[in-house]
Amino acid sequence: MQSKLITPEIKAFLISIGSVSVDPSLIPRARGSTAGPGAGTSSVFFRSGNKRVRLSINKDSPLSILKVEGEGDVGVFYQGKELVRGKLEPAPAHCPDQAFITLCERCVFDCKYCPVPKLQGHVKSDEEVLNIIDEVLRAGNLKAISLTSGVETSIEGEVERVLKLLPALKKYNVPIGVSVYPTEGCSRKFYEAGASEVKYNVETMDQEIFKKVCGDLSLDYILDRLREAVDVFGKNRVFSNFIIGLGESDDSVRDGIETLAQMGVIPVLRPVNPHPLRAGDCFTERPSPERLLTLAKLEAEILKKYGLDPGLAKTMCLKCTGCDLVPFVDF
Ligand code: SF4
Repeated sequence: MQSKLITPEIKAFLISIGSVSVDPSLIPRARGSTAGPGAGTSSVFFRSGNKRVRLSINKDSPLSILKVEGEGDVGVFYQGKELVRGKLEPAPAHCPDQAFITLCERCVFDCKYCPVPKLQGHVKSDEEVLNIIDEVLRAGNLKAISLTSGVETSIEGEVERVLKLLPALKKYNVPIGVSVYPTEGCSRKFYEAGASEVKYNVETMDQEIFKKVCGDLSLDYILDRLREAVDVFGKNRVFSNFIIGLGESDDSVRDGIETLAQMGVIPVLRPVNPHPLRAGDCFTERPSPERLLTLAKLEAEILKKYGLDPGLAKTMCLKCTGCDLVPFVDF
């Protein structure tokens, strides 16, 4: 068959399923994902043209990746039909082309959709972090360094952890992104220590849902920190994950995108990832392809109005684009 590239409709369909079965021999290099709600699963990154999608590996998925004709080429198949053709990308540290590192894989908070507090994983030493970055550098894939972290004991402690590490990262001479739970004034400190971009996650812009799922935290507080971040880093350099599928209405998503964009923040519309360790802890519903497309187009219109462009991102999720339909990159 003719090579088939990813359209926004196909990417929305793949994301809505979110998983794929794949013969391990086809995977260039698999590592466990330890960043946020994708924690504890292994994934593949499929690239077609200049578009990318991340799918978690699940042998029972209705999607499968199979070898097709052509050097390194694979196809994504659904019900025996090839939907799209491309290649699998290596992801030496969480995602392609970046060293995206979770410093602390534990969290004292208890956001109801997130498996990290249940996994209570490893806390990396600075030496381990630098070794991972060196490994990505050696593989020839280091275009950015992105740092994220759960909260081991305190929010202030995580900000300090990043600030202590940042001076040692300057030598790599690549853009650095930081995504942690913020403290007042931390953006200025991150910026002065060499960060290029920050991502502070609102998770949802629906106040009622926020109270139910992130009850230990405050949405207004995060919005204040995002405002500070835009003052420091400028437009197009401040992002925020906005989960889709926690029971919010499309109207509340539109209002939430508008509020963030007006502040100069680019929302990352992230389909919820229902995790078995969180079964029954809160409402989660993976969005349909139609809903993903509708909301991404809505986001594109609003971002355009405020002069925001996710295609300018240098680090973290908007650079990777694997998990989301990204305006001005995917369509
Ligand atoms: S979009 Fe973000 S969370 Fe998803 S694989 Fe890429 S860097 Fe990781």
